[in-house]
Amino acid sequence: MARANDDWQRLLNAADAESLVTRRGCLYTFQTEAAWVQASHKHDTLAWSGIHYRVLNAQQTTDLEPALAGKVKGSIWYPDAGHVADPLILCERLRQTFEALGGTLHASSEVQRLSPQETGVVVNTSTGQKICDHAIITAGIDTPQLANTLGDRMPLEAERGYHLEYPMESPLLQRPCCIAEYGFYMTPMAGRLRVAGTVELGRASDPANPARYRYLERAMERLFPELGAPSAHWMGCRPSLPDTLPIIGPSAHTRRVHYGIGHGHLGLTLAATTGALIEADIHNQAPPWLGALSIDRFR
Ligand SMILES: Cc1cc2nc3c(=O)[nH]c(=O)nc-3n(C[C@H](O)[C@H](O)[C@H](O)COP(=O)(O)OP(=O)(O)OC[C@H]3O[C@@H](n4cnc5c(N)ncnc54)[C@H](O)[C@@H]3O)c2cc1C
Repeated sequence: MARANDDWQRLLNAADAESLVTRRGCLYTFQTEAAWVQASHKHDTLAWSGIHYRVLNAQQTTDLEPALAGKVKGSIWYPDAGHVADPLILCERLRQTFEALGGTLHASSEVQRLSPQETGVVVNTSTGQKICDHAIITAGIDTPQLANTLGDRMPLEAERGYHLEYPMESPLLQRPCCIAEYGFYMTPMAGRLRVAGTVELGRASDPANPARYRYLERAMERLFPELGAPSAHWMGCRPSLPDTLPIIGPSAHTRRVHYGIGHGHLGLTLAATTGALIEADIHNQAPPWLGALSIDRFR
């Protein structure tokens, strides 16, 4: 986590996309004083991590976020955090950079099987066969099917999460704000406020659970009744492993295939770091601690 910002910065510079990330930190807020005090004590033990934070009382919190006045008793502020107001534009910018560097995106191909050979990897897809020196699997919750074709196993589960969006012209909040007791973040995005969170263990293919949307809607009615009804509902799967750490490293059977999977709640945050670590490992330059994220821990 400590290097996530630096790795993203390199990627943003390469894609000329720095302006797409807003850097005002994020707030983890509490509605009761007891929860705030308890959390601030817990944070003392986080000092070793290199992640900067500040404990703010109610007044300091509402100085940063006036819309939270009277609604929270305090917060933890992570000043180095950033957020992306329009992830689609960022993806598009990264795609353009990838293509400018000579990459080709096969967006409508589904990978069906990987077969490592002496000199490369044969990748069978729904639109034909490709041969490459190395393959990197970042297929989220669908990874186990592909991993099976290589003889790899991993206990990947879906932590399903939900979001609502409220359209608005001028932002209600300046930065992502979590209401800890409710278990969701409110993030100002282009033309809307996104309310995202909750954890539901379940099959990725099962339909969304309407009770989760109702939960988020009711909480928002209590917090900001003036917002009215949301305009968008979404359910997605966080691909998660039982020890909460991702798998970043080679297949158990070949160094020609690497995995970057299982990032749970932090896949966007850790995307650039994951790419950098896999690149380093392919060139035998990975830091020694990367072994702790190996697929071997599940054999
Ligand atoms: C409500 C919610 C809020 C979240 N908030 C945050 C947040 O604030 N910050 C953060 O860092 N993370 C957040 N996350 C987590 C983040 O979304 C995930 O960690 C991240 O999406 C995982 O990335 P991934 O690339 O492993 O998988 P995915 O994002 O699922 O991407 C996998 C991709 O692989 C493709 N694919 C699958 N199988 C194949 C195949 N056979 N062939 C070709 N393509 C294939 C899929 O189509 C998909 O595009 C949130 C998640 C949820 C649900």
